[in-house]
Amino acid sequence: MKVLSAGLTDPGLVRKNNEDAFRVDETAGLLVVADGMGGHAAGEVASRMAVDVVHQQVLQGLKTGKIPALGNFSKDLSDRAHLLASSLVFANDMIYAVSQDSPEKRGMGTTIVAVLLNGSKFAVAHVGDSRLYVFRNGNLTQITQDHSLVAEQVAKGLLTSEQAEKSEIKNVLTRALGIGPEVEVDVNEADLFPGDVVLLCTDGLNKMAEDSTIREELAKLSDPEKICDNLVRMAVDRGGRDNVTVVAAVALRSGLKERVSGFFKKKK
Ligand code: CA
Repeated sequence: MKVLSAGLTDPGLVRKNNEDAFRVDETAGLLVVADGMGGHAAGEVASRMAVDVVHQQVLQGLKTGKIPALGNFSKDLSDRAHLLASSLVFANDMIYAVSQDSPEKRGMGTTIVAVLLNGSKFAVAHVGDSRLYVFRNGNLTQITQDHSLVAEQVAKGLLTSEQAEKSEIKNVLTRALGIGPEVEVDVNEADLFPGDVVLLCTDGLNKMAEDSTIREELAKLSDPEKICDNLVRMAVDRGGRDNVTVVAAVALRSGLKERVSGFFKKKK
């Protein structure tokens, strides 16, 4: 299945620095978004390191077929999912090591969400509150669960999503990459269908626009560059209170089979 992808970031209207980082490697099928935190521009260092290290590790793993034995992940996962997840663990170790060497970088960390495409499947690994959504048949589904205090409270039924959006502690993360010697990475695999849009973003998008608004925008678009342009511009136009980053991949509907089945669906 052919997949086209693009990415875009913008500092927004309030912040001087851009602590977000992203990577799109269409050949490897790798998509990464990271949102850094830490004073003295350390947040920028952490998010860029995360993106660079994960990219390098994935490329090396794909080339050599060797997967580092990092982390304790389910044996049911594919080699690619293992490679992606262990790359995040490796990035955690690197960022933590650098932060320990320099007082100005102490405590730096980053969120990360990374997708590795593989034909009709994809793996996703994440830490923090940067999100993966999939848009399919007109529906937008959030695939990752935020590692934040409010998301945990929503999951336990203590808060509604609406209350979580308005909460003063909505920025408090329960997990981040690089802040400690150990990290727990969530990893999963899912199917990819022709016409799917895979959307990765930092909270600079989902805090400025509700899921329903993002869904409406995606329903109008099928070009990944246009999706990134429009969603980033929407977040900035709505106040751009935070750095905003969007990466989008579109699985093309090009096969005869899909066209024929689409035809029959319309006739029904
Ligand atoms: Ca942010």
